[in-house]
Amino acid sequence: MGKKNTRETLLAIYQRLMACYGPQHWWPADEPFEVIVGAILTQSAAWTNVEKAIANLKAAGALSPPALRQLPASEIAELIHPSGYYNAKARKLKAFVDWFGAEFNDSLDKMAGSDTASLREKLLSVHGIGDETADSILLYAAGKPVFVIDAYTRRIVDRLGLTPKGNSYAAYQALFMDNLPHDTRMFNEYHALLVQLGKDACRKKPRCRGCCLKGICPSFRAR
Ligand code: SF4
Repeated sequence: MGKKNTRETLLAIYQRLMACYGPQHWWPADEPFEVIVGAILTQSAAWTNVEKAIANLKAAGALSPPALRQLPASEIAELIHPSGYYNAKARKLKAFVDWFGAEFNDSLDKMAGSDTASLREKLLSVHGIGDETADSILLYAAGKPVFVIDAYTRRIVDRLGLTPKGNSYAAYQALFMDNLPHDTRMFNEYHALLVQLGKDACRKKPRCRGCCLKGICPSFRAR
């Protein structure tokens, strides 16, 4: 598929998803630190369980970098128990807040003011932060125009016949970032809409009949 066609297809997918589901309003920027905690806790966890863990942290007055630095990892693990892998995630939260304090003096504004590429590199050097978590922090907490790739995105892209060459995170990300305007708001909504589609229609066992992309999906036409 040529670049122009790819761009048009990606835009058509976005428009159809937006018409079908409407704006998802994910993670407004007034609580960016909570967004970061959520991005770490959501690894291999359902969001409803992450919400319970965040509520526990809030109730214990532990949803801030200084509080997380002060608490022993074992106590954090207890609070975030509902999100699963709680011991590992407690260590990740500790590693993040240690880095955040040393690098940005706990200032989200300072972090958001950094150059995107170097901030991404730095985030990836923190224990427990991989591509998807780093990009979620960049997009949803720092407001950077970075496209987040997750398992839903890969599945939907593959079924829509848009699989990029090379089965890497970077290749899937480049599919969107090389073909769409770098627009934070659009990337925010686009990712959220793909997650919604992945939960609603394009499940492991797809429910194509009710899918708003069936008109442009080769997997549906092939059935
Ligand atoms: S038509 Fe089916 S396979 Fe294609 S995106 Fe929709 S649910 Fe997925």
